[in-house]
Amino acid sequence: MTTYWQREMETLSREKLEKLQWERLKDTIEAAGRSPFYKKRFAENGITAGSIRSLGDLHKIPFTTKDDLRNTYPFGMAAIPLKECVRLHSSSGTTGNPTVVLHSRKDLEEWADQVARCMYMVGLRDTDVFQNTSGYGMFTGGLGFQYGAERLGALTIPAAAGNTKRQIKFIKDFHVTCLHIIPSYAARLAEVMYETGVDPRRDTQLRTICIGAEPHSEEQRKRIEQLLGVKAYNCFGMSEMNGPGVAFECTEQNGLHVWEDYVVVEVIDPETLLPVRDGEVGELVLTTINREAMPLLRYRTRDLTRIIQGDCPCGRTHKRLSRFQGRSDDMIIMKGVNLFPVQIENILMQFNELGNNWLITLETVGNSDEMLIEVELSDLFTDDYSVLQRLAKEITRQLKDELLLTPRIKLVAKGSLPVMEGKAVRVKDLRKLL
Ligand code: AMP
Ligand code: ZN
Repeated sequence: MTTYWQREMETLSREKLEKLQWERLKDTIEAAGRSPFYKKRFAENGITAGSIRSLGDLHKIPFTTKDDLRNTYPFGMAAIPLKECVRLHSSSGTTGNPTVVLHSRKDLEEWADQVARCMYMVGLRDTDVFQNTSGYGMFTGGLGFQYGAERLGALTIPAAAGNTKRQIKFIKDFHVTCLHIIPSYAARLAEVMYETGVDPRRDTQLRTICIGAEPHSEEQRKRIEQLLGVKAYNCFGMSEMNGPGVAFECTEQNGLHVWEDYVVVEVIDPETLLPVRDGEVGELVLTTINREAMPLLRYRTRDLTRIIQGDCPCGRTHKRLSRFQGRSDDMIIMKGVNLFPVQIENILMQFNELGNNWLITLETVGNSDEMLIEVELSDLFTDDYSVLQRLAKEITRQLKDELLLTPRIKLVAKGSLPVMEGKAVRVKDLRKLL
């Protein structure tokens, strides 16, 4: 049996890791220069094979953005002939061209290794039964986890998204021990289990779940763990960087190890574009150093995180990223205050009286912007009006302390807010430009 605890690589000393990164970066820059996009970029910026002489010179290369990917649609980023590519993933934006990511056979092999490594790290083995509730197709959470779990040797169930009752039947009948699931859907799945008389602790073998693809708070994780009787591990990825497996929590559940033999990590201030001070929050910038078909140099992910200082007790030396608080484009700016939806979630999820679904609406009332937060109640709760009023008041007080502005809270009956099958949409912005 191949084990996916790649001890040597996962615990490499910083010095050796950086040496390896530099070797791989050099090759990557050379390979990237064969793509139409980087060929032009390098020429415009005077970058030659000799001008990047160490890892420390990486900052001389300009950032790559999502717009660059869109503008080179479909194949302007390809660094190898299309004939040597074996898969294409594409994610659609709301406007303009979609983005395209190309993979060679080697790219796919290494991506599968990467996901297998992550799964091994959280205790999964070839004796596990793994069900993937992600959509298959262009969304990389499907095939990405599929091949990773197969690589690990688990019995895999590519259930794909939707049809919650069927998901639950599979979980029970096939003795599923592990799920990959979006956090908002995990909460929904647990609710449907209880509604249909299934007790996950008694009636299933579920033990581990990998939750990711969207921001979620620590409180949401705790709630999911409690509801399903499992350990839930945060997994982070994006199609531009293959997909799942870029960074993953270990069993310490304190930060996500980002695999530095595959990417070089930078955290920058999105305004000044300079590196933030050690341990400060900023935008994650990643450079692929093992990709053949489509290397990306200094890719601005828009995801906000910080590097957790210090060694991880698990022994792995690859840097740890803190839970992602959202994307810079998810930030709500309201009355001069900047905030992220997960800050709100973190507070809401502390109330047992509240369910798992909530929605923020931003609207203009008269001359001012207002925030309305609708939250579903949990089963636990009463419809006694004065009790509800007291609860709404307490939630408002806590949110006000956290956000420094006062939202309007509306407690609604369970099941009354829209349920999303994919990533949850938590914010509706109906504000008028005044
Ligand atoms: P996609 O390329 O469609 O898979 O979307 C990738 C994006 O999903 C990332 O850039 C993040 O904004 C978000 N995302 C993925 N995993 C996580 C996670 N564990 N926590 C927070 N956001 C995540
Ligand atoms: Zn660790």
